[in-house]
Amino acid sequence: MTKNLSKIAKTKKIKYFLISFVDLFGVLRSKLVPAQAIGEMQKNGAGFAGFATWLDMTPADSDMFAIPDPNSLIQLPWKKEIGWLASDLWMNGQTVKASPRVMLKKQINKLDKKNLIMKSGVECEYFLISEDGKTIADSRDIQSKPCYDQSALMRRYELIKEICDCMIELGWAPYQNDHEDANGQFEMNWDYEDSLVTADRHVFFKFMVKSLAEKHGLRATFMPKPFENLTGNGCHAHISLWNGKVNKFLDNGDRFGLSRLAYNFLGGIMNLAQPLAAFFNPTINSYRRINAPPTKSGASWSPSSISYTGNNRTHMIRIPDPGRFELRLMDGSSNPYLLQAGVIAAGLHGINNKIDPGEPLTCNMYTDYKNYPNLKKLPDEIDDALEYMEESKEIKEAFGEDVINSYIKLKKSEIENFNKDEDFNKRNPITNWEKNNTLDC
Ligand SMILES: [Mg+2]
Repeated sequence: MTKNLSKIAKTKKIKYFLISFVDLFGVLRSKLVPAQAIGEMQKNGAGFAGFATWLDMTPADSDMFAIPDPNSLIQLPWKKEIGWLASDLWMNGQTVKASPRVMLKKQINKLDKKNLIMKSGVECEYFLISEDGKTIADSRDIQSKPCYDQSALMRRYELIKEICDCMIELGWAPYQNDHEDANGQFEMNWDYEDSLVTADRHVFFKFMVKSLAEKHGLRATFMPKPFENLTGNGCHAHISLWNGKVNKFLDNGDRFGLSRLAYNFLGGIMNLAQPLAAFFNPTINSYRRINAPPTKSGASWSPSSISYTGNNRTHMIRIPDPGRFELRLMDGSSNPYLLQAGVIAAGLHGINNKIDPGEPLTCNMYTDYKNYPNLKKLPDEIDDALEYMEESKEIKEAFGEDVINSYIKLKKSEIENFNKDEDFNKRNPITNWEKNNTLDC
């Protein structure tokens, strides 16, 4: 039975609901709705003008409606009178096909037809920076290898503890928090879940980290590369496919503990990594993180070639443990829904075509890449990624040609806007345009 949000509001003393959706560029949009009106909104949705967001619409289009998914409800642990809801977009009685949560659900349905669900976990790295975005917030956090630095971590204890406490309260099962490889950079890990739940939580996590950082007088950024010489913000995903309680990726007879199905899925991702970079690395700034030179810490920790391996972080895909693999391509600007949707679409392509990923590589790809000149490279900038996507009949088939065309059209308009004032060159300093448009991604 559908949960009744009006009743829930009364029991949980929720006064306001944030009816939210994420547009194609990953921007979180909302209306703040008093509890008295939530019954009507649950039925018919909250109205929005699509053109005012990053969706392929015109000012003449009729309103679209965000119909909240009651299963996504999160009562803000730091402001309990507010309930947050993820929504699906509707227009003229139909779902908006080129909207991220709907796009993910389409891929989930295809997996469902094979009696499979994807479970995933995401590792959202972020920086704590000054208000103007020019420096990291902690002026003492300057050592060249700052990863796991206890003192720098503990100087942020009050904030990190508050975020982690929230996740405990929400039942996300967080299990570790650390200082990452760049000065001012942190990561917090919580348990994996069904891909839609993880995507909703991913959206909420970014909102929560930014909101609580602000409360502590800080600014949090998930921008892929906010500082040229430091490691960027990745958003690695750990992937497995399940049938009920059975992990279909697990095969204890295999050297890495992966099944044939898992290798096919992984092969599909390798096959479509170039076009999918347009989803996984969707911003102009993203391309300062991949194909990047070594950072101050000694490594960029991000891939440049399309390869897979065992427990070795220099490749695009790592198999750290039996029964799952880690995709290290995505960055902090990737849209949480398109991230999961892209993985499923590529994985299904691999399963349906029984794609063999070939032999794994064991080398240090950061130093030995010259020995593998035939490996496919990741796109060097967003224009290249969009071109790969435009040419990919597999991606167009998976998502629908209209949907992909809408995405490409909007991204190209953004690049045009950038090109008016700037020139992208990853050897030059990060542009103001990138900061203005990506710091709060
Ligand atoms: Mg990390």
